Amino acid sequence: MSDDPFSLIGIYGGTFDPVHFGHLRVAEELVEILQLDEVHFLPAGRPRLRNEPVASQHHRKVMLHEAIRDNRRFFLDDRELRRSEESYSVESLRELRDEFIGEKVAFCFIIGVDAFLKLPDWHLWRELFELSHLVIVNRPGHISVMNQACLPPKLRDACLDRWTDDVNALRRVSSGFVFTAVTTLLDISSTTIRTYIAAGKSARYLLPDNVLNYIGTHHVYTRKNENR
Ligand code: ATP
Ligand code: MG
Repeated sequence: MSDDPFSLIGIYGGTFDPVHFGHLRVAEELVEILQLDEVHFLPAGRPRLRNEPVASQHHRKVMLHEAIRDNRRFFLDDRELRRSEESYSVESLRELRDEFIGEKVAFCFIIGVDAFLKLPDWHLWRELFELSHLVIVNRPGHISVMNQACLPPKLRDACLDRWTDDVNALRRVSSGFVFTAVTTLLDISSTTIRTYIAAGKSARYLLPDNVLNYIGTHHVYTRKNENR
């Protein structure tokens, strides 16, 4: 391969139940900070480590599609939704690596600090470092990853020698670095949004209007056992 730097693609996994401005703003800022060519949103199908999502796979996919359709760098990757079995990020990243074979692309797996702290529970989590860089974003109410002493020992050891604050380092190899990005802290979560909507409270300005309208039209979080 040539000595040209790798181009960078962000891979943003999550339940997106529903997608909100916390997710979207992080993706937008990372495009600028890391000069990402693209961000691929990767909604989880049946997550192994948490409760079943409240909204159906179909609703989560449409909501995400609505939220990102105006952004030419944002893409929806629904491969995990199409799997009938549990979905694993490592498997998706393996597939993506195969699809980009021969291209000088490095993946940046985007993860909030709350999810990062639980990484050692993930299926084959150490392989993530072989398949992508990890880009961690802070989240209000959670410890800052800047404070590495707070990390669980297994995670701290796995990340040792991988930390970098040099964006250009991510372009020199296809995987293996851990980068902490400083993005605007938005105290928004899907749980709060679902709770507000179920309680009949306003969730406006926490997520895009078209997503909120979709939720209202299809009663995604209000009626039980219907349209899910
Ligand atoms: P829930 O409350 O249902 O867990 P959530 O708001 O945490 O929803 P997820 O779909 O679980 O959203 O999160 C997907 C990814 O986005 C995770 O890595 C999570 O840490 C990150 N993330 C979610 N919300 C924010 C936010 N407000 N700021 C930064 N990162 C976020
Ligand atoms: Mg979450």
